[in-house]
Amino acid sequence: MTRSYDAIEILDELAAIAHACTLCGLHETRTNVVFGAGDAHADVMIVGEGPGQQEDEQGVPFVGRSGQLLDSLLGEIGIERSDVYIANVVKCRPPRNRDPRPDEIDACKPYLRRQIELIDPLAVVTLGNFSTKLLLRTTTGITRMRGTAYEWWGRHLVPTFHPAAALRGGERVTNDIRADLALVRAIIDGRLPDTESTEAGAAETLSPEPATRTQLDLFGEPS
Ligand code: URA
Repeated sequence: MTRSYDAIEILDELAAIAHACTLCGLHETRTNVVFGAGDAHADVMIVGEGPGQQEDEQGVPFVGRSGQLLDSLLGEIGIERSDVYIANVVKCRPPRNRDPRPDEIDACKPYLRRQIELIDPLAVVTLGNFSTKLLLRTTTGITRMRGTAYEWWGRHLVPTFHPAAALRGGERVTNDIRADLALVRAIIDGRLPDTESTEAGAAETLSPEPATRTQLDLFGEPS
């Protein structure tokens, strides 16, 4: 697939803006902004919740225990971490790993939106409730949403459990993640599974022409 190398430069500029960001209170307690990492031309983009302690210390997403499990599960479907791009809903660690607040998610949303547009992946994998609810614009929990690939803004979105849930919940949750990642493998291989449509993006596809874009952006807000 041919993509413009401009995406990397724009991502770098966006990262520089994020590194100086004070749009929400999380900037007061962060050590590092965890903007995102990986292949800017990846076919698969993974969206977690927010940095934990180790990610905050290192400035890199998913480097702790959840990240190790994620790496291993990706490995089972033949994907290396360097093949994907990983980002989070919020780029700064919520103190004591509390849930990100709605105002923090709102403030951080434009970064994620732009990352998805620039990376332009075939498949987006949302890990856990926060990223799934935000991107699919749903209040339905991950347990009911997972198990399916959704058609989303002209690409596929595969929601699955957060690896932290697998660390707590054991083999059953881990196997559910495995089943969801098998959908991702099928998408990359062009063996497209039946996809479900969502109000969030099924009716609209991202047009390369800004003038012909729909009125709603990736998160369903007027653009
Ligand atoms: N959990 C997340 O959601 N993101 C990270 O980067 C690390 C742990």
